[in-house]
Amino acid sequence: MQTIGYKSKGVAAAVALVNAVTSADGDDSEEALRAILRDNEYFWQQFEPSDAGALREWGRTLRSFFESTDLAEAAALLNDLMLAIPMHPHIANHEPHGVHMHYAPPSARLPDRIRASTLMKLSELVCQHGLSRTGVCAADGCDRVYADVSRAGRRRFCSESCANRTNVAAFRARRRAVPPA
Ligand SMILES: [Zn+2]
Ligand SMILES: [Zn+2]
Repeated sequence: MQTIGYKSKGVAAAVALVNAVTSADGDDSEEALRAILRDNEYFWQQFEPSDAGALREWGRTLRSFFESTDLAEAAALLNDLMLAIPMHPHIANHEPHGVHMHYAPPSARLPDRIRASTLMKLSELVCQHGLSRTGVCAADGCDRVYADVSRAGRRRFCSESCANRTNVAAFRARRRAVPPA
């Protein structure tokens, strides 16, 4: 199954939204939220300032999923959300994706479409990989979440800079542990 390309946009949007809203260095301004939608190929032009509250709340809701380390608990969370939000899967055909699935009702506004598609894409990731592809960054002092849709799937950090910082710290600690000759 393919998880790269636009199909992972729902996952990437979920990560970006959670980090924007819940992380210590996050930016959840209207402008930042609009940029998340644009970067992940949602209809960002339809974003209205009054949508910001719904998106922020959704980011806080999804954080619990990324923090979960128990598959049954995470699945129950996603299942509850899939019952709670309006879902009406159907096939759409528009640029730049061509033929693809939409998960919210055709009449749904932007926040409901984002809720539906992020939820479906996270659920597909869980069905394929359990919780091995999602989590909170392993770097000291970082509270950002990540999702790994790469083939290798060994990611434990939110970013290259957190991975590098942690590796350098580990290297220095090892060197200190070796007594000088
Ligand atoms: Zn679409
Ligand atoms: Zn990090």
